[in-house]
Amino acid sequence: MKVLKFGGTSVGTVESLTNVKKIVEAIPEPAVVVVSALGGLTDKLIATAGKASHDDPSYRDDMQAISFRHFNIISRVIDEGKRDEALRLVGGLLNDLSRLFDGISLIRHLPQQTLDMVVSFGERISSIIVAFMIDGGKRFDSLDFIKTEEWFGKNIADQKLTTSLIKEKFSVPFDKAIVPGFISTDRKTGNITNLGRGGSDFTAALIAAALDADLLEIWTDVDGFMTADPRIIPEAEVVPRMSFVESMELCTFGAKVIYPPTIYPVFHKNIPIKILNTFNPTAPGTLVSDSRMDSGFSIKGVSVLRSTPLFSIGSYSSVSNPESRALNALARQGVKIYPMTVSANAALNFAVAADDEEKARAILLSEFAPEIPSHPLLAPSIKGGLSTVAVVGENLKSQPRLGARIRNSLMRGGIAVEAFSDGMSDSTLTLLVDSQRANDALRIVHSLVV
Ligand code: ASP
Ligand code: MG
Repeated sequence: MKVLKFGGTSVGTVESLTNVKKIVEAIPEPAVVVVSALGGLTDKLIATAGKASHDDPSYRDDMQAISFRHFNIISRVIDEGKRDEALRLVGGLLNDLSRLFDGISLIRHLPQQTLDMVVSFGERISSIIVAFMIDGGKRFDSLDFIKTEEWFGKNIADQKLTTSLIKEKFSVPFDKAIVPGFISTDRKTGNITNLGRGGSDFTAALIAAALDADLLEIWTDVDGFMTADPRIIPEAEVVPRMSFVESMELCTFGAKVIYPPTIYPVFHKNIPIKILNTFNPTAPGTLVSDSRMDSGFSIKGVSVLRSTPLFSIGSYSSVSNPESRALNALARQGVKIYPMTVSANAALNFAVAADDEEKARAILLSEFAPEIPSHPLLAPSIKGGLSTVAVVGENLKSQPRLGARIRNSLMRGGIAVEAFSDGMSDSTLTLLVDSQRANDALRIVHSLVV
């Protein structure tokens, strides 16, 4: 059995939905099909809710456009015999959504829980449309089996409960199970939540892992993982295969192919992932699988994570282990760090995503609050305006001179390397450069290593 996930662009237009129908109906066995909201709709729902909460009456026009878009698609992709029933169900949901916007506009307030409810309509509706469109399609509602719990103010998947609920719900016979991606419910309150932006991939991975699928197919609008972002490097090529670790690293460092948490559940079960293009369905795509199959070393890609400030904290012989205290405090509160080396002798250097800058700063200031008055270098110094260039390929340590070669060519290209991670990981080498020069750095590194 395989699990397929179709992203927003794949379900966004009549043309793309027609491709989805062909792809799914050609599968001879039962399959699970996870769908995103219509392309661009989640952003639109967020913007419309924002307008309603600010008493901007144009939210009503947006609501009309949202309804029109769905009704128009239904009238063009769903067979006449089933169309009225689909219109009735979707019409009911759009009516609820419209009332929700009116409510938000009345109270002029948009708490997270209400916004989560608003965005859930995207996938709730798209999954109804796809279920009606596909022969043998039957809708399975994620709100019944994808469960989250609160963790430091975020909703994260409760994988254990979710796994057992998926096994239970999918124990009935089905031909093509159509599932809304992204959306979930809180395990305690039952409130609607979600897995975070881009989370439909994760829904598909949780289902694939729970049902021991043979394959997870991520259908998108590109031919697979590329050696670099083709908008920056036109000569970038599709990578035919890579390991789970390599795909995870590339996505962590800015490749937008898969939502990074997706990989863990299927990685643990050794279920391969295929990245495929709905608009070019015969292209071979990228196969992501266990690396033990191919030995040797090759660079799979280079990517950029934009805006990653560099943190440094100083060391004092009288303060023991500031490094591990800092790392533990950050990890406990869910701040992801990218360890770095710089020439100056600070105890600890690392980069974080710009979104985490304030949080990381506050955590470190509080961790070292008792000592900072007498040891001022324990307060982090932060350098902004930097981006991280990542070079990904397993067995990096078999190429001990690669890091130096990359730094030299950047230097010759007039790009200063502010910090680097050479030798810390066997799959990824990272370099911090001036954000303004990040694309130039990417070009230099791509032409050197790929
Ligand atoms: N519709 C959601 C988003 O735009 C989830 C997804 O597409 O994966 O983030
Ligand atoms: Mg996506």
